[in-house]
Amino acid sequence: MRVIPFGKPMIGEAERNAVLAVLEGPTLVHGPRTKDFENAFAEYTGAEHAISCSSCTAGLHLYYFALGIGPGDEVIVPAQTHTATAHAVELVGARTVFVDAEPRTGNMDVDLVEAAITARTKAISVVHYLGRMADMPRLRALADKHGLPILEDCALAIGTRLDGKHAGLLGDAGCFSFYPVKHMTTAEGGMVITNNADLAAKLRLQRAFCVDRTPGERSMPGIYDVVGLGFNYRMNELEAALGIEQLRRVDSFLEARRANYTALAAALHGIDEISVIDSGSTDRSQSSHYCLSLLLNDALAAKRPGIVAAMKARGVGTSVYYPRPVPHMSYYKNKYGHGEGSFPVAARLSGTSIALPVGPHLTVEDMHSIVDTLKESICEVQ
Ligand SMILES: *Cc1c(COP(=O)(O)O)cnc(C)c1O
Repeated sequence: MRVIPFGKPMIGEAERNAVLAVLEGPTLVHGPRTKDFENAFAEYTGAEHAISCSSCTAGLHLYYFALGIGPGDEVIVPAQTHTATAHAVELVGARTVFVDAEPRTGNMDVDLVEAAITARTKAISVVHYLGRMADMPRLRALADKHGLPILEDCALAIGTRLDGKHAGLLGDAGCFSFYPVKHMTTAEGGMVITNNADLAAKLRLQRAFCVDRTPGERSMPGIYDVVGLGFNYRMNELEAALGIEQLRRVDSFLEARRANYTALAAALHGIDEISVIDSGSTDRSQSSHYCLSLLLNDALAAKRPGIVAAMKARGVGTSVYYPRPVPHMSYYKNKYGHGEGSFPVAARLSGTSIALPVGPHLTVEDMHSIVDTLKESICEVQ
């Protein structure tokens, strides 16, 4: 039986050698590879500034901290996302104001954003759900009308572009994740991109204790000052070395994802019991094709655990993005009192979807195996 895992890091000879080379040298942090990775990432995305950090979550948190957002402030967040998108707001002491998804793509429903804006709103965050570009032109117009910055959570959006412009540059800043099952990995790691030089300088300072000189910039050991509060959210040289090698391969990873997604969507066509969330490219936007998420019809939705188990028994790994809308998770439900009937679109996506893998560890033939397995598994539970 061929095992088809949901995700698998693509680590090869080049990555292994790059990490070993770091270990053989004297520098594990504050070294040249972190700088090189930032420069390469800026060039890849077309950003003026790229600031590496220890995770996407760290980057999101840094951004709100840098803007001085805090208690008494509100930030708009999609309900259908990773907990990190909302946690970053809570970590600075601000209130998370959730907005439901739109059913076709799972992206935040921009029609609902304006009603969520109050006098206390300080920023809008947006997620490119499963790598599909959110409606940034409308969101930008709305944000500009209210004088609000936009933070793009680009954890699943490397390679996502609108009219050629990379995700993260349509808002005021974008945060990427290099967690193992994302499009490319540094084990743990993240990157913030922005075209705002002042913001970039602030993020760099606050990423490393607000110490005003890195060790390499000091004329003598100990010659530095602490100009504010900050974190230790740096990326290290081992992670950066991995990132440099992964970034060289990312276009080939994205092409494999596109081919797999296209084949899988075509093969799923005509299965009556399901529909598919549209995470593909459009005339104007390029998707990063994180996965293909299907929705079970009402009759089958309650049987999802059985279908997932039957697929797993046949070697096919699946996932759910995301298991519950963030406002329905205990921390948020207890704090804000969101009822089960709230965010109905996100709740339906969470409650009835199965995410199928399309990563570069898989082939187009695997996509056909996945569909055969899905059909057998649906039969088995009926
Ligand atoms: C994975 C993910 C994150 C968290 O990324 P880390 O690098 O693990 O902090 C944040 N947002 C979204 C949408 C994600 O998918």
